[in-house]
Amino acid sequence: LNEAPRVALGEFDLIRRYFARPVVSRKDVRLGIGDDCALLAAPGDLELAATIDTLVAGVHFGVDTHPRDLGYKTMAVNLSDLAAMGAEPAWAMLALTLPTADGEWLAEFAAGLFRLAEEHDVQLVGGDTTRGPLTITMQVQGFVPPGQALRRSGARPGDLVYVSGDLGAAALALRWRQGAAEPPDAAALMERLDRPRPRILEGRALRGIATAAIDVSDGVAADLGHILQASGVGATVCVEDLPMCEAVAAQVELDGNWDLPLSGGEDYELCFTVPPEREADLQDVWRRFACGCRRIGVCEEAPGLRYALASGDLYVTAARGYQHFSGEA
Ligand SMILES: [Mg+2]
Repeated sequence: LNEAPRVALGEFDLIRRYFARPVVSRKDVRLGIGDDCALLAAPGDLELAATIDTLVAGVHFGVDTHPRDLGYKTMAVNLSDLAAMGAEPAWAMLALTLPTADGEWLAEFAAGLFRLAEEHDVQLVGGDTTRGPLTITMQVQGFVPPGQALRRSGARPGDLVYVSGDLGAAALALRWRQGAAEPPDAAALMERLDRPRPRILEGRALRGIATAAIDVSDGVAADLGHILQASGVGATVCVEDLPMCEAVAAQVELDGNWDLPLSGGEDYELCFTVPPEREADLQDVWRRFACGCRRIGVCEEAPGLRYALASGDLYVTAARGYQHFSGEA
């Protein structure tokens, strides 16, 4: 988008029509879309947090996904990574690979993307377009005060494990979309799958309180596992403490296991660890947020992730999160 499109200039020229609109106009963008590079004034007293995500049609989303939902989700999954670091979002870049330049599709995609961009004051400052199978790559950058970013590696034995919101709703919606029986409250569930809320304000509030954090994209079993591995600790999670909406709780009852909230994926909630002496501070800062947060377990010295019931008995499951590559640890 910075440069003239590389393919089918006349056709791809219309992309500029949909993405160069100044929906958000930030003071720190000296030069946005339209030249060889964007020029961005990074504040010298802050650290830059940068992340990138690729969504491939047929792998990360169904080919029949509405373009407005796709645009929204492209921005949402990236902002969720900034949230997990406690960063404040600022800039985005978009690389679109499209089979054809369909004006109606692009208008809808842009509308979904800009809706969330506007909400979080994120300016799209550049990108690239090519022809090929539908693939969407977005990079976002944000700021965080030096040394205050929430890393995966700071959890210590004794820290309490928390999650924001509730788990498993997006996965239940996906089951329905893929042919399972219609769950109760289906419309609300689809909203959770198609328009997840990146926990930006919540992540920022966790600075100085949480010792480690991650966003739950692949299921809390897998993502908490990343925290434990990076921190060199283990944990026990009480499955009966996993926060669930009514529809997910009903499905757990039917399934006879907790696989849905443990390894469902696409929740985009935050999973984080808090020292017991900071729990009161957490409750204090969290009061202003609409989504709850819930303690689900505790970090321990013994490595690995264990599950327990409220009775104290161990709960044994093979549930794991979404694996990007088979054979991945
Ligand atoms: Mg992440």
